[in-house]
Amino acid sequence: MKTERSPAKPLATLESAKERLLANVTPVGEEEDVELKSALGRVSAQPVKSDLAVPPFDNSAMDGYAVRTRDLSGSGPVRLEVSQRIPAGTHGQPLKSGTAARIFTGAPIPDGTDAVVMQESCTVIGNQVEIEAEVGEGDHIRQTGNDITKGETIIPAGAVLRPQHLGLIASVGVGKLKLFRRLRVAVLSTGDELVEPGDPIGPGQIYNSNRFTLLGGLVQLGCEVVDPGIVADTPQATEKALVEAAHSADLIITSGGVSVGEEDHVKKAIEKLGSLDLWQIAIKPGKPLAFGEIEGTPLFGLPGNPVSAFVTFILFTQPYIEKMQGITRTSETMSRVRANFNWLKPGFRREFVRVRLGEVGEDGVVKAELYPNQSSGVLTSLCWADGLAVIPENTRINRGELLTFIPFGRKR
Ligand code: AMP
Ligand code: MG
Repeated sequence: MKTERSPAKPLATLESAKERLLANVTPVGEEEDVELKSALGRVSAQPVKSDLAVPPFDNSAMDGYAVRTRDLSGSGPVRLEVSQRIPAGTHGQPLKSGTAARIFTGAPIPDGTDAVVMQESCTVIGNQVEIEAEVGEGDHIRQTGNDITKGETIIPAGAVLRPQHLGLIASVGVGKLKLFRRLRVAVLSTGDELVEPGDPIGPGQIYNSNRFTLLGGLVQLGCEVVDPGIVADTPQATEKALVEAAHSADLIITSGGVSVGEEDHVKKAIEKLGSLDLWQIAIKPGKPLAFGEIEGTPLFGLPGNPVSAFVTFILFTQPYIEKMQGITRTSETMSRVRANFNWLKPGFRREFVRVRLGEVGEDGVVKAELYPNQSSGVLTSLCWADGLAVIPENTRINRGELLTFIPFGRKR
């Protein structure tokens, strides 16, 4: 099979391009008060502190009997009178010596007791309970503050709030919090061949798919989208749309029309209104990535090819957005898979191939199946696949080798 030749001028590596790109990100920074129930997927602007200990009182981890362990010393079963009953939500009395308290999960431990015996280890005989188990001090008691201590920071600033974060914040009684405002991102689709889905299509035309892929990706990242749709391929329309986007959004994404040397209104308009760099990055798909600014608003010029647009969005735009959103720790979700295919076309560019996860091998590592058509225009490959497997530069892959895998799944 044919081997790709390397260019005369070396291309930037993915790492160096990403590092340069992420070195100059200005986070949005503006804060707003948001009700807890509307905070899912958003980013905390300030640490959340707890005014409470959680649990707020020593409580029973079991349905059973609260006892004083010294009443149980000696060998053989011990019988104790049941002197009170404490369901969750009530508060018992100090325990009378030589008795036990019937207690339920979550109920406060009465004063004078130091263990709970689970009911499975007890036999009830009239008003008495016979305990056979060995009982140690502290058994089945959830101590005050064993999860959260009073004054503790439970969520740092810059955290993406997942469902479990909302639960944790609720558990300390906080109903409203300071979040960074949502990032506003404008998506401009360029290309005279484009038609919106639902409209009739003429000869030489194609439907605008990138608009929907990109809007979806942005919504999943918690962004607000500014969506002027298709921009007519005239200098006036392009410049007007770009200026409006620069004024109304924090970030602009264009798709199409920024390949090297292309006679194109988008490229020219951006260069006229601001600045544009074409980055030649040694990756496939997506070699040229355009990055620039218009009146201080950063701009990604993604390639027009649907797969290239999607892959460059995931590799570059997404981490850039996360930094703008003020996120301090992203959950990079890379893992290893075993290639269940051969890749015999080493290229000088690192290749991101669409794979689907298959069965788990005997060694416990999941096998990756390759989509047969890896062309950068084939959107079906993205829907069939679960993610991207990374083929390193100048490398042949034989079935059974380990590869890095980047899943498409929701990160939040
Ligand atoms: P370009 O980057 O403008 O040279 O476009 C490269 C390829 O992507 C061409 O085949 C375009 O027709 C196609 N393309 C550009 N924009 C879109 C879009 N919004 N949706 C689908 N395909 C597109
Ligand atoms: Mg074009």
